[in-house]
Amino acid sequence: TNRTTAVLGLGAMGSAIAARLRDTGHDTVVWNRTAAKTAPHTEAGSRAAPTPADAAALADTILVVLLDHASVREHLEPLAADLKDKVIVNLTTTTPNQARDTAAWAADHGLTYLDGAIMATPDMIGTPASRILYSGDRTAYDTAHDALAVLGAADYEGEDAGLASLKDMALLTAMYQMFSGLVQAAAMMRTVGVPAAATAAEVTGWLGAILPHLDQFGAVIDERTYEGGQSVDFTRAAIGSLVTAAREQGVGADFLEPLLSRLDELSATGRGGADWTSVTEQLTIR
Ligand code: NDP
Repeated sequence: TNRTTAVLGLGAMGSAIAARLRDTGHDTVVWNRTAAKTAPHTEAGSRAAPTPADAAALADTILVVLLDHASVREHLEPLAADLKDKVIVNLTTTTPNQARDTAAWAADHGLTYLDGAIMATPDMIGTPASRILYSGDRTAYDTAHDALAVLGAADYEGEDAGLASLKDMALLTAMYQMFSGLVQAAAMMRTVGVPAAATAAEVTGWLGAILPHLDQFGAVIDERTYEGGQSVDFTRAAIGSLVTAAREQGVGADFLEPLLSRLDELSATGRGGADWTSVTEQLTIR
């Protein structure tokens, strides 16, 4: 197919995406607010457009890789008339409701909109480690698929435009809680002179050994009966020790304390014998 892809936004991510499209033989047009950033791209064979409207006019698929929701809307809204019969793929990180809002805006203007969430860093784009989640207009996904597939595994999550972002946010939530665990472990070990680099290596090994257990947790949460497994009371005692140990070393246990108080609530209301993952139910805001 002889489709042309426009990349709006040449930050670290947009640049990597434009380069990968070029390297795989795709015709590319680039636009960036700071025009100087287009130079390496035109030298490598992309065309530069002076405005987003010019970029849209030259392309069939418009990939948007800007900073945030506000910058996307700032540049897409004046473009509604220029985007008719184009496929818009917004790869900018947004919340699920921001994605749905932009999808609703697109629908109001008769535009074809796909929302994407990039599960990769710029250096991973185009490698087997790269994965991008998509949700929204299925036809847009199918039409743009040739270009999307060269960026990484391209997974279609469903018609609700917020789904890609929701999964992105859920996975990043788990990632940052893991990161905060490393930070706390490093703070504890530093009190006896162990460098954080050494603790990071230890944490990497330990988490690797323990990761296969996540599957079991998932199964227990899905059943919602929370029978068997490691109990609330057992886990309360374990986490209580972690909090105490941190404090003994003069280190705060800020990230663990909220979990401990949720387990305390379960125990105080007669649910200390249930599997500890029943804390999942405590998270639902009613
Ligand atoms: P950068 O900070 O490197 O680039 C930001 C880009 O947005 C630049 O092109 C910048 O233009 C542009 N921009 C910012 N504000 C505006 C505005 N108001 N109007 C027009 N353009 C604007 O960020 P990344 O390229 O790393 O990230 C881009 C998106 O990709 C983000 O949503 C990010 O969350 C997402 N992403 C990034 C990942 C990463 O590892 N980097 C991983 C997964 C997702 P200018 O050059 O003129 O400043």
